[in-house]
Amino acid sequence: MTEKTRRSNFLTDIIDADIAAGRNQGKVVTRFPPEPNGYLHIGHAKSIILNFGLGQQFGGRTHLRFDDTNPTTEETEYVESIEADVRWLGFDWGKHLYFASQYFEKMYECAERLVKEGKAYVDSQTQEEIRDQRGNFDKPGTNSPFRNRSVAENLDLFHRMRKGEFADGSCVLRAKIDMSHPNVLMRDPLLYRIRHAHHHRTGDKWCIYPMYDYAHPIEDAVEGITHSICTLEFETNRELYDWVLDNTGPWSPRPHQHEFARLALDYTVMSKRKLLQLVNEKRVSGWDDPRMPTIAGMRRRGVTPEALRDFAEIIGVAKNNSIVDISKFELAVRGDLEGRAPRAMAVLNPLKLTLTNWPKDKVEMLDLPWWPGEPERGGSRQVPFGAELLIEKDDFSLEPPKDWKRLAVGREVRLVGACVVRCEEVVRGAGGEVAEVRCSVIEGSLADPKRKASGTIHWVHATRSVPAPVRLYDRLFSAANPDAGGDFLAALNPDSLIKVDGARIEPALAQLEPGKHVQFLRLGYFFTDPVESKKGAPVFNRTMTLRDTWAKPAAAPAPERKPEKPAEARPAAPRKSRSEARDAVRAASPELASRYQSYQQQLGLSTEEADVLTGELELARYFDAAVAAKAPAKAAARWLINDLSGLVKDRSFDGLPLSGATFGRVVAMVEEGKLAAPAAKVLLANLVEKGGDPEQRIRELGLDKKIDAGVIGAALDKVFKAHAAEVERYRAGEKKLLGVLIGATMREVGGAADANAVRKALTDKLG
Ligand code: ATP
Ligand code: MG
Repeated sequence: MTEKTRRSNFLTDIIDADIAAGRNQGKVVTRFPPEPNGYLHIGHAKSIILNFGLGQQFGGRTHLRFDDTNPTTEETEYVESIEADVRWLGFDWGKHLYFASQYFEKMYECAERLVKEGKAYVDSQTQEEIRDQRGNFDKPGTNSPFRNRSVAENLDLFHRMRKGEFADGSCVLRAKIDMSHPNVLMRDPLLYRIRHAHHHRTGDKWCIYPMYDYAHPIEDAVEGITHSICTLEFETNRELYDWVLDNTGPWSPRPHQHEFARLALDYTVMSKRKLLQLVNEKRVSGWDDPRMPTIAGMRRRGVTPEALRDFAEIIGVAKNNSIVDISKFELAVRGDLEGRAPRAMAVLNPLKLTLTNWPKDKVEMLDLPWWPGEPERGGSRQVPFGAELLIEKDDFSLEPPKDWKRLAVGREVRLVGACVVRCEEVVRGAGGEVAEVRCSVIEGSLADPKRKASGTIHWVHATRSVPAPVRLYDRLFSAANPDAGGDFLAALNPDSLIKVDGARIEPALAQLEPGKHVQFLRLGYFFTDPVESKKGAPVFNRTMTLRDTWAKPAAAPAPERKPEKPAEARPAAPRKSRSEARDAVRAASPELASRYQSYQQQLGLSTEEADVLTGELELARYFDAAVAAKAPAKAAARWLINDLSGLVKDRSFDGLPLSGATFGRVVAMVEEGKLAAPAAKVLLANLVEKGGDPEQRIRELGLDKKIDAGVIGAALDKVFKAHAAEVERYRAGEKKLLGVLIGATMREVGGAADANAVRKALTDKLG
């Protein structure tokens, strides 16, 4: 994270301004303050990433503070899970782990001071009376009859409250502010209430407990928090936050509260109460059920911390609440897994395929790469191939539709990584169903990957494959707003978990350890369940389908949505007819139509760019792979349309030696300033013809010489900022930190830079 480029949003603007104004000696200290009463969910992840991210970005620190001001009984499980989740997300609070209950004595002292200064009083009315006197937005409140108790009387009563002389609810401590204050929360708010309850950490030491609005600012101030970031609901509480600090201080640094929009996702419930209900009623298998929006659930499903951080980046930090489209989350997960999950084969719903002209007992071990299309990543596995295979039932049709690209009688398809086969006949079972398809191998096609076929399907060997439990997880709710009908349980998706029993996997997959990612070709991203998998017996969780299966089949775009053609674009006539042709393609393909929408709405492409990229599936997938490989979408679209298309000419994007993902890496390098645009053009022209690893090719072609001192200088500036502490320690004599700084700078400039030049620039700057 530290090496990431700087993000900016309204909070970083505030912090920049604070630093510029010299507030808090330029220090930035943030905190994440969960209440240990449940498991963390994706909304908390957003807050964690934000708070720890700001701490890192500004060379400050972030505290983990358990907000345990409410006496609770069972918190250990939650405390432990929260710590594990924050760590898993990639963050470290160092020695700054705190419990709000540690500050009870300090809070009490501050309250005593407020009483002594006439700023707080003990009110002996009931909770209802107090509530009734509060008034509302257009009606001022009424003073309590106990408001004018003397300081001496208040002090005595408050001491006795602490000693336990009064029953729960018999009195409270209130701030004496103003009962006609325009902000209702400022109308003599409660500071302490009596609760004779056992506290998990402080035991029976206390029978008065501070209210959140009073406790929170003091917790922040005691810890030296500079920026106290919370969700928008607390905006009106800010006035009280400030009042408490102004009347209990002076504090240095004096914390300030800033609010941002909480995360809400469609197709999801996030309230702790509802999540607990799902667990208690056994609607899910537990807090870590892979369908839960909890961090524990997502982790078990195969979502990675990087995907969550990417998602946080995509949605950004805003100051107005909105409901985020869950497909953005899914997009981030797919993007992350695309570059992380090696490819292999599994058949979920097997149909026997017999090769009639292959020797019955001959098994050939095929050496297939884990990363087809990306040979530079290396690695392969042995896949047994023979006369008896299994294919997906869905990949055969007795009555194939017109555009059928899979198997049917008389049709030819390629088996992934193997030969082309032609289906000769089917064998029917007792009930008349297709029990077996009999095919012949097209001679020479095993050795000739160019031999054409109408499509490609995956397969496994019938007896050498291994059975494995596979679980197809999907969205937990089938309604966009599960709460709309009043009963969120009614919106549960009955198909959110499908347990597949008869699935067969290729032998290499049986050796996967728990917690590994793999893409089952054509089926989805899967993850070996970290809890239930055993050595040699993995259980597979589907993390995500390969494509959005929920996208509304978008209607063909209305003609008036099409933009006016800019004057400098291609000649009018062909342009128009091509665009019309693409419209027709999209009208017939929901996959392309939905991309046409999402490229504009989610990726911010222009209508014209989205149009060009969704004219054919191959091209769209190529673009998706580039974006998944972290290329900024706008730039990837521009490079693809303006440069790569010209280089590819009439060839198919599918068989290109330059994969979409690798293309995306090149675009990202340009965008990050690691590769000059003219150099990138040379590089792309070369990769399109010859394939290979871009970084190696950059060196071979001497393009790295184009990485000039300016790029290194800019990288050093970033690294010095992100690693200010290490720089200081290095200068103070810890020379072994040089390696860390070189590593960070190399990551910043990309592997394309000359390491010696980086080292020299770095040591020069360190002095
Ligand atoms: P509850 O109020 O139901 O107990 P909570 O979601 O507020 O639950 P906390 O443990 O108090 O839970 O939350 C810890 C921190 O996480 C808070 O600072 C809060 O602002 C933040 N947070 C909670 N939910 C979200 C969300 N949906 N989006 C962003 N931040 C959130
Ligand atoms: Mg809360």
